[in-house]
Amino acid sequence: MRYSCILIALLLASPSLARAQGRTDDYKRDVAASVDGMAKMAQEMVDSVFSFSELAHQEVETSRYLTAVLEKNGFTIRRGVAGIPTAWVATWGSGRPVIALGSDIDGIPQASQKPGVPYREPLIAGAPGHGEGHNSGVPLNIVAALAVKRIMERDKLPGTLMLWPGVAEELLASKAWFVREGIFTGVDVCLFAHVGNNLQVSWGSTAASGLVSIEYSFDGETAHSAGAPWRGRSALDAVELMNAGWNYRREHLRLQQRTHYVITDGGDQPNVVPSRATVWYFFRETEYPRIKEMWDIGNRIAEGASLMTGTAWTSRIIGAAWPQHFNKPVAEAMFANMQRVGLPTWSEDDQAFATAVQKEIAAPVQTGLETELAKLDEPIKDDDKRGGGSDDIGDVSWTVPTVTLRYPSNIPGLPGHNWVNAIAMATPIAHKGVVAGAKVQAMTMIDLLTRPELVTQAREYFVGVQTKDQTYTPFIAADTPAPTWLNKDVMDRFRPELRKFYYDPSRYATYLEQLGVAYPTLRRTEPRP
Ligand SMILES: [Zn+2]
Repeated sequence: MRYSCILIALLLASPSLARAQGRTDDYKRDVAASVDGMAKMAQEMVDSVFSFSELAHQEVETSRYLTAVLEKNGFTIRRGVAGIPTAWVATWGSGRPVIALGSDIDGIPQASQKPGVPYREPLIAGAPGHGEGHNSGVPLNIVAALAVKRIMERDKLPGTLMLWPGVAEELLASKAWFVREGIFTGVDVCLFAHVGNNLQVSWGSTAASGLVSIEYSFDGETAHSAGAPWRGRSALDAVELMNAGWNYRREHLRLQQRTHYVITDGGDQPNVVPSRATVWYFFRETEYPRIKEMWDIGNRIAEGASLMTGTAWTSRIIGAAWPQHFNKPVAEAMFANMQRVGLPTWSEDDQAFATAVQKEIAAPVQTGLETELAKLDEPIKDDDKRGGGSDDIGDVSWTVPTVTLRYPSNIPGLPGHNWVNAIAMATPIAHKGVVAGAKVQAMTMIDLLTRPELVTQAREYFVGVQTKDQTYTPFIAADTPAPTWLNKDVMDRFRPELRKFYYDPSRYATYLEQLGVAYPTLRRTEPRP
């Protein structure tokens, strides 16, 4: 009672404030209705990008398709930005605030999977697929941007919308290059979107780690492996010794670190001493200087391996991600919008399907989809961090005020980077999650457009708190090329096969319909292929 009296007094005292609040509320209602009206469009985009199934740096069809949608809707496209052929920036509007909307677009190796069935069934054996859910984020941003653009046009609101794709996020190999190129210069706030299983946003330092992705190559000498092995110098021996050295050293590193490697070149054939071998490392830690330190240890171990084997070594950086730090005022505004939008209304079919998937893989959670909104996540203390993925949105977050919107398009309790994470990503679960996420994104854009003080507070937090004692130093050098050659062979091999499975929205209402999948399918009815 007392509070409502104070509120009324405040409103009477400041009618212009009340009017402004009323206008913001009206706009939020409008964008929510607009997003609902674009649910069909969202589904078509989500399903289409799912069907392209393109790996990092080979997102050719994906980028062609998404930029065509944006161009048709009045955006100006700049293609091939930062020397990355599949990268682009789409802009519309003029003046400030400049709001950047980003989300990733690439898939996962070996994750080809028929959507909507709760068991392993690749569309094409060995092919890539959307085993993370990166097919959904840019469609979400497009729907949100179009909803807001309608209002900006109708009421002549100043502001610039800028959409950009997280190319090669799975290799942490584009955003540091975008920052270096200066594409975020003049941006007031960046709203990033990443698939999750709840509506979620955080501020401050996150549980995620940062990393450098380093390729070590060794050069030796070939010889007949049986006839004259003493005349050879094995580059593969160097790789194996480097890995052995790292695995011993690992015990004496902090619990927060995570390191992993794959041998991408182990020689040609056993009877030829391998003169060339390559191992590819990810060094993950929670802070910039600690990542640098791990990278230095890696270099010293490579040097040791080369001394032991009489080989020479070189290395190059092919990916990088700063640890993430998100903006407090913008996260709080976004969280209020999450409370307003709420989680999607899941059907019994959605819940039965999600539970069937969780049971199939004996997931730690077998209670279906989230029905309770997550809390606003606060910063995590370094001591409490225990590893975790990385995202090169970290580099953006140290360049302009940034938050990441997580939206509920996937099923809880899945392993990540796996075929099972693809299952839901072209089903009603993904589609409903994108609609809910797009509403939150659009409402937060409305906050930024109608409440200039929020943009000011975002800047104040970024300058006065986040970057007060820490400045961004990129891991990549001024001339480090983006590794745009990666995955080319794999995509050249699989794209002709994948093309047969591209979604055709002119003939089928949904991708599930095109594939002949009944939803929900709860168990295997056909014999194993
Ligand atoms: Zn991701």
